[in-house]
Amino acid sequence: MTADVIDGRAVAKQLADEVRGELAELAARGVTCGLATVLVGTDYAAAAYERRLRTEADELGITYRHYFLGADSEQHTVERVVRDLGADPAVHGVLVLRPLPAHLDEGRIFQALEPAKDIESVHPENAGLLALGTPRFVPSTPAAVFHVLDGWLAEQELDPVEFYRRSTIAVVGRSSNVGRPAVSLAFQRQAVVVSCDEWASRTDRLAAQTRLGDVLIVAAGVPGLIRAEHVAPGAIVLDVGINPVTGDDGRVRLVGDVALDEVAEVARAVTPVPGGIGPVTDVWLMRNTAAAAAARLRT
Ligand code: NAP
Repeated sequence: MTADVIDGRAVAKQLADEVRGELAELAARGVTCGLATVLVGTDYAAAAYERRLRTEADELGITYRHYFLGADSEQHTVERVVRDLGADPAVHGVLVLRPLPAHLDEGRIFQALEPAKDIESVHPENAGLLALGTPRFVPSTPAAVFHVLDGWLAEQELDPVEFYRRSTIAVVGRSSNVGRPAVSLAFQRQAVVVSCDEWASRTDRLAAQTRLGDVLIVAAGVPGLIRAEHVAPGAIVLDVGINPVTGDDGRVRLVGDVALDEVAEVARAVTPVPGGIGPVTDVWLMRNTAAAAAARLRT
């Protein structure tokens, strides 16, 4: 089998057109959407993500503000920046980029977010709403995963409701921003859900668990973790991983968690890195920013 390689950039372009329409409606009501991101330290992937968001916001006409705080910033400094953004009327969406330096308490920083601006649903109130199946905002990465999957199912003329009810979805990784919400979204679709973390690898059970998946979502942050042996024949594989690796020429390039060449021989469809889930995630975050602005108009 040679898998369909899903073109995430094309999906993102179509989604961006929809978001442009939503922003135009807001502009007609006198609202210019504002997004703020907060990066603490110099993590390579987080900094690359920040640059992509800036570009995306600029292209869509969303006002973009970025706060860069040094890696040794104190807890109260980061919390104050986040709280101030919550009170700023020009800002509709706030994103605190992960990973945060190890000395910071991520949970307390997320609690400092204004829930109405917490477009990634990491504040406990929003995470709770998501877990209950009534999300205020669907976090951008798992939202992008299911948007891409829904689009592929539509192309195959498969009924998504029926497909999910008959499927097992395996999710590798259980971070608060990707793995856990992906499990919630799979659960809401009435799929059978298998969740694996690093212990599945350490105890040599990873392949046995991932091979249960008709759909396999991978968000571990380990380059090439998923090989052909981890994938059930005919599965649909969605690779969330974005990992910087340095080549023999000394240049850094981004690779996924899935060994694409060999997995493509087993899977029915697979997303590449780059050009898969990432571009759709970026646009979804803009969509959530527009949704936050629209929600404020209604209050
Ligand atoms: P994270 O917070 O580091 O979480 C990684 C998760 O993977 C943890 O649950 C960890 O298990 C699990 N894991 C680690 N090694 C594993 C292994 N060998 N086998 C099985 N599970 C393993 O990372 P994240 O924020 O979720 O990001 C994951 C990846 O997605 C990264 O490459 C990141 O750059 C990328 N990402 C991409 C997008 C996008 O738009 N495409 C967005 C966000 C993140 P434990 O819980 O046991 O530690």
